[in-house]
Amino acid sequence: MSETQCIFCKIVDGQIPSTRVFEDEVCIAFNDLSPQAPTHVLLIPREHVDSLDKVERGHKDVLGHLLLTAADIARDKGFAEDGYRVVINTNSDGGQTVFHLHVHLLAGRPFVFPPG
Ligand code: AMP
Ligand code: ZN
Repeated sequence: MSETQCIFCKIVDGQIPSTRVFEDEVCIAFNDLSPQAPTHVLLIPREHVDSLDKVERGHKDVLGHLLLTAADIARDKGFAEDGYRVVINTNSDGGQTVFHLHVHLLAGRPFVFPPG
């Protein structure tokens, strides 16, 4: 998937609308179109990276930033204490459907493990 065709790159540059809950110079966070929990936020880097499978050592700060931001959002929205789940689906067996690295932040109901 080229970056010009990538739907999440289009969300970053505003060509496709999204409901943003947070943004900064590194990432944006927006509500998932098809929520799997009462809160379902996606966090993506502004920079296009296909998947966790394609990250390099140089992405260490970006990866850390995504997780720290997910934890901030959980605290800000008030569900950190009850708990939440963070997921990075990777490649086909991992259930990845959009090939722009993203972190799912899910909350508002209990989750089972393993997730199936
Ligand atoms: P994954 O299956 O891990 O690749 O997750 C992709 C997620 O992107 C799914 O949960 C979709 O519901 C979500 N999604 C796809 N298109 C959009 C969109 N335009 N706006 C918000 N979420 C989207
Ligand atoms: Zn992209």
